[in-house]
Amino acid sequence: MDNFFSEIKNTADKVAKKSSELVEMSKVKLSMVNTKSEIGTNFKVLGELVYLSQKDGAEPDTKKIEETIAKINELYDRLDELSEVSSTLKNEKICPNCTKSNPADAQFCSGCGYKFTNNDPDDDDLNVEEITEVDVV
Ligand SMILES: [Zn+2]
Repeated sequence: MDNFFSEIKNTADKVAKKSSELVEMSKVKLSMVNTKSEIGTNFKVLGELVYLSQKDGAEPDTKKIEETIAKINELYDRLDELSEVSSTLKNEKICPNCTKSNPADAQFCSGCGYKFTNNDPDDDDLNVEEITEVDVV
């Protein structure tokens, strides 16, 4: 009897875990949508600033333009983070070349054909770091 109940509990736990992943996923997706639309809004602001500066022949409001660009950069960073979280949740990996998400075991990007390396540390250029460790006394 004990087994029977613990099995039910196990299944319930699994379902709960799965659904919390789904909730997490939809939260991430929602944030991505919001971030994208915020980027759009800021691009609109940026366009207006440039337009007005051209139209009036006045000095462009460089400070405001810089602020808007900084905000857009920030939003893009957030979008990157979100898509990383989302691909972790989906067990996918993002192509560093074209940012398309691929299955975790993909060897080539389905978007651009980029070849994924298996994070082999030996592939990285062997640096001078080890050599500089040597003490010359
Ligand atoms: Zn790609």
